[in-house]
Amino acid sequence: MERINILHVSASLFLLSYFFNVFVYRSSDKLVKSKYFDVIPFIAIIGISNSALLLSDFYVYKLALFIYFSVQALSMIFTRVIENSVLHLLAYILSIVLLLMVGFNLMIPIQFLNISNILLMGIIILIQFRNYNHYKTAMHKEISEIYLIALIGVIILSYGHTYFLMSFGLLIYAVFQLSEISILLKFYKMSRASIDVRLADLERKFERTVEFEAKKRTSVMADKVEHIKESSQKDPMTKALNRNGLTSVINDLINDSSVKIFSIAMFDIDKFKTINDTKGHMVGDECLKYLSYAFMINNRKTDFLGRYGGDEFVFVMPHINAPGALEISERMRIEIQNKSAPKFTISMGISTYPYDGKNFSALIEIADQGLYAAKEAGRNQVKYKGNVFTKG
Ligand code: GH3
Ligand code: MG
Repeated sequence: MERINILHVSASLFLLSYFFNVFVYRSSDKLVKSKYFDVIPFIAIIGISNSALLLSDFYVYKLALFIYFSVQALSMIFTRVIENSVLHLLAYILSIVLLLMVGFNLMIPIQFLNISNILLMGIIILIQFRNYNHYKTAMHKEISEIYLIALIGVIILSYGHTYFLMSFGLLIYAVFQLSEISILLKFYKMSRASIDVRLADLERKFERTVEFEAKKRTSVMADKVEHIKESSQKDPMTKALNRNGLTSVINDLINDSSVKIFSIAMFDIDKFKTINDTKGHMVGDECLKYLSYAFMINNRKTDFLGRYGGDEFVFVMPHINAPGALEISERMRIEIQNKSAPKFTISMGISTYPYDGKNFSALIEIADQGLYAAKEAGRNQVKYKGNVFTKG
């Protein structure tokens, strides 16, 4: 009866400790492997006490501890929870020497168990403290500290001469086991709580990052599209839209239901060939650049300028009717006449959507007629050949 009590209580404690260790360390791949060995003392106690060997309870307990400690110390070293050290090696050499002494009848097995258990416990404590130095967590610190209780328990168990003292040693070892479980549980709860907080935090960060990245990518894409659009739709020299860009802008206006009316002015430098011939192409280029610049800075942001080809440009004025377009064009004609250097003039022809045409080419056709009329009438003037009644 007494035998069942002590060993079964001890075995249960080892089993309990094993479950808690594996449970708490299960998220740590590296550590959990070494924790699987914690089931050894339970198996050893049950195995030895049920074997044919007639050993006392304490003998069984010490033997179980010995098997456990040696496997635990070895596993801690070989699973590289902590790197090998000379001290560990020395302890193992000493154990082998002791074992040889037993073999040569220089020492009785129980003495060997007593010495080895203390020695191994010492190694394990050393490893625990080094674990603490390595991980620097409060949990490792507290666990290393209570291992000292275990050592005291093992020493009393080994060298207690009376049944009472040995039981006291066992009790101290049990206190150690229960303390270890309570520390594990305490830190497990704390880490769960902090994991929850950290998870929520990470989730928020993740969401923000994803959102930010998406926005960044969208804006990068938009910039790229804008850039490609610009480069494929702009005339590099004058920075006005090229024929492509002009066509697409006018088509956009036609397709935009909010735009009910718009006008275009087609214009061309008068006697540009003469400028090129007398002043050179470089000066000719400067005239084209100035012309484009003058139209862009003197008008609304919603207006567009396109280079139709050569010295021919088309100015697009959304929401402007024919009389309005005539007024704006006249103002621009005077602006160019007065401010261009070298001095040059332009002739202009106008058309208005939807009255003069419902597509790009029809509108160009009417504007071109006006331009031709302006040239015919002696250049440096604005003409409208469309269907809207105007004073001009
Ligand atoms: P008009 O008054 O009838 O328009 O006479 P014009 O001399 O201007 O005749 P036209 O418009 O037919 O001539 C356009 C000239 O523009 C022909 C070409 O040499 C010149 N030109 C076309 N593109 C460029 C350019 O990029 N740079 C320069 N410097 N000249 C150009
Ligand atoms: Mg010309």
